[in-house]
Amino acid sequence: MVSPLSQGHLTLLDHCPRKFQYVYLEHQSAPVSWVQSQSAAWGTLLHRVLQQMELGLPVEPLLAHDPALARSISALRQAAPHLFGGEGVVWRKSEHRRSLWFSLGDPEEVPLPKGEQADVGLAPGFGLVMVYDWIQVQADGTIALVDWKTYQRIPPWEQLAHHWQTRLYLYGLAATTTYAPEALSLTYWFVAPPGTGESPQPQGMTFAYDRAQHQQIEADLRDRLRQLHHWLHAYQTQGEPLPQLSPTASACSSCGFQDRCQRRSSPRTDTLGGRFPPLDLSPEALDRLLASGV
Ligand code: SF4
Repeated sequence: MVSPLSQGHLTLLDHCPRKFQYVYLEHQSAPVSWVQSQSAAWGTLLHRVLQQMELGLPVEPLLAHDPALARSISALRQAAPHLFGGEGVVWRKSEHRRSLWFSLGDPEEVPLPKGEQADVGLAPGFGLVMVYDWIQVQADGTIALVDWKTYQRIPPWEQLAHHWQTRLYLYGLAATTTYAPEALSLTYWFVAPPGTGESPQPQGMTFAYDRAQHQQIEADLRDRLRQLHHWLHAYQTQGEPLPQLSPTASACSSCGFQDRCQRRSSPRTDTLGGRFPPLDLSPEALDRLLASGV
């Protein structure tokens, strides 16, 4: 039995199944550069301040020591004042966690991995978990999800529309509430981290949802998770590793597991001598790191 999968795990699985094996099944930390770890840390701090604001806790001590963060919060409040007022809001929560069980269907078609045979009567499947930065139920009968992003550059709309975060967050909310898919939306608010130049103003990008998308995402999830189930079965019963990318894949050239995959064409020359900060790869930390554009 594996622990619940987050959007970060699904993204990692799409990116490279072997990397998913190293990170998720074997709990190995991919090397992370100092710049990447700083970017992830700034994103974590921004999320913490926004969460404290929602809880009504003082944030001044945090902001007093970080003028750039204070400017970013102020700019976000100006760009999206509706998020910080109570008008039209029935219920609101930050860092809201929801989970669901995604069944893969007929156990006859999906062999159980080693060790799961004891779960008689339990159809094979995976737990899925969503951690929403901000969720608000509105008086007009809709639910708005908000996610804070600290990308330096805003990705194209199409890229975000296909990102597992967009799809899993909306799917998971529709699957765990009685709200119609059409009542749900997800808005990313982009707050750029401090850089060398002047930071752009925060911008929002909203994704609507409907029943057709819901059915498509469910079909995509079933395909992916059935494939993963078979890979896990082979990994656990025969020690067969999950697939690597092709030897010519460009993604390997920037992957921290090049040595283990024997994909490095020249010796390591990084200035840290191969030593990088350790990375906490909990589902939330992994999602945050991926969300920071690493
Ligand atoms: S080096 Fe390539 S094949 Fe190996 S884990 Fe990284 S991306 Fe995957």
